[in-house]
Amino acid sequence: MTETLPRLLLRLSEAGDPAILWGRQASSHAGRDFERLLDHGVLVEQAPATEWDVCPACDCGLDARPVQQVKGQYIAVCPTDRRSDVVLGDDDLRSFRIHPSALVREIAMASGFGGTPAPVAAGVWHLGETSDQRALFLALSRDAVLQPGMIGLMRSAARSSPIIVIAPAMAADELARFVEAAISVMSIDGCLGRNATGFAIDLSKLESAATFEPRLVIFRQSQRVILDGIEMHIPQQPFKLLVILAEAVGTRKGHLTPQEIEAENSGRSAGDLIRDLRNALHDDQKTLIRTRQSPTRYFLGLAAGEFDLRP
Ligand SMILES: [Zn+2]
Repeated sequence: MTETLPRLLLRLSEAGDPAILWGRQASSHAGRDFERLLDHGVLVEQAPATEWDVCPACDCGLDARPVQQVKGQYIAVCPTDRRSDVVLGDDDLRSFRIHPSALVREIAMASGFGGTPAPVAAGVWHLGETSDQRALFLALSRDAVLQPGMIGLMRSAARSSPIIVIAPAMAADELARFVEAAISVMSIDGCLGRNATGFAIDLSKLESAATFEPRLVIFRQSQRVILDGIEMHIPQQPFKLLVILAEAVGTRKGHLTPQEIEAENSGRSAGDLIRDLRNALHDDQKTLIRTRQSPTRYFLGLAAGEFDLRP
């Protein structure tokens, strides 16, 4: 199966800007869809090539060899060996620059996102919100999505929505950064529709592949806590309290009484322990540890699916 035009353009864009589509690569895609991309400024035709790659293992010393017109033919001339001359066709001389923001606009439009995608940083755009209220980003290259500060930039564009980013395939250790930050990553290949003309992202793939990213992950043995993608430093007693509050979620009762908390932590009042735990959290996270009065009981303000209690 030949590569579809959208896939070809996205693959070429992975190398970064400027990405060039050569006429020879384009020739099998000629037609209405190709014309539309020219009209929409996704592809911009460049001046015909006047230089060509030197022949392999040539000793001419040139960076590029000139293209000359000889008797109505275009020829890439080798200065040292006529037998290495290459006769070029019209398609060889044509080239198109792939305009990244126009390409992303085409994808957003085809996928049903209104408006112009907002650039977040070079090579990364915020497309909009998915039907399940996640902020969807698209990165055209690996370098773009891995640039320093990218996670923070996506967070501020997403406000408090969970984040999903579509990007070229990454290595496992690169992916781990996003997983630790509770950001879902989909490969471009994995979610682009299969039809030849379509630039549409298959949103159902996003949903099905969307493993729920828990807001809170607790690692019992190593006593680590990752909340909203950030590793928290929680001292031992409050950590123990957090674990039993998490364990209570999903039980019939769902909460803990002061007596239950004090039974697990000798010598301190439940109120003090709860305060220590809240103090270990950022201001906007303190409401996760909730109190109900008369009679007093404490509970974690997360549903069972929103946190992950690991060994
Ligand atoms: Zn040569």
